Amino acid sequence: MLKWSIIEPDIHMLFLRMHSMTAESTPCSMPDCTATPVSPCVYVDRHDVHCDTSWCQKHRVVIGGSVLCRRHANTVLALGIEGSIADEANLPDVFNRIPSLISWLRNDLDPPLQAMIGQHKSPSDFTSHPPAYAVEDDDGTTLWQSAWEFLDTHGTPIHIQLAIREDAATTVAVLVNGEEQFHGTPPWILHREHGDSVDAALDRYERDVFYQSILDAVRRGVMSTYLFPPRDA
Ligand SMILES: [Zn+2]
Ligand SMILES: [Zn+2]
Repeated sequence: MLKWSIIEPDIHMLFLRMHSMTAESTPCSMPDCTATPVSPCVYVDRHDVHCDTSWCQKHRVVIGGSVLCRRHANTVLALGIEGSIADEANLPDVFNRIPSLISWLRNDLDPPLQAMIGQHKSPSDFTSHPPAYAVEDDDGTTLWQSAWEFLDTHGTPIHIQLAIREDAATTVAVLVNGEEQFHGTPPWILHREHGDSVDAALDRYERDVFYQSILDAVRRGVMSTYLFPPRDA
């Protein structure tokens, strides 16, 4: 007993010292950045779980006055939240990458899709949603989507969706007027899962091939809408 009563405070102090040393010496959460963090990511999800990353001046992202990591900045933007997230009580789970992924895909696909469909659409009828939104699938699974909806110059409705189910969080489906035209996993996610390191040129090439496959699938889907128009069109 005597031994423990003497040693225990020392161990306790040692632990405290180690803990504070670790906290002080933990660098910015950006891989390979050694700068001192200036702020944690303030994202708190609907279960009151906090993001445990911290960011230096250069790598933090500020949206509506809130400091966020890049993933959660994308999540917040994907949900269409532009102000402070302090009052947002129902944010997706901290580890849910889907809203961020959907937002990322939408940003990359929007310019070529707009260019592709721009010449066919009626200028006044374009419905916009938040970049990502959640709906419940028929079997109760949460489905994250992003959509482009418009009437073409003949008045035919065209509805293009990106969709990712929460129970298959890396598989992207692309639908045109409800018909699936494509599903696949982005190559950079496959590499991350396999722990591959990929040089920038190959990464760029694979991304281009992936996006081109989606654009080709959308074109096929739109063409089949013209060949086999919806009954109520
Ligand atoms: Zn940094
Ligand atoms: Zn975060």
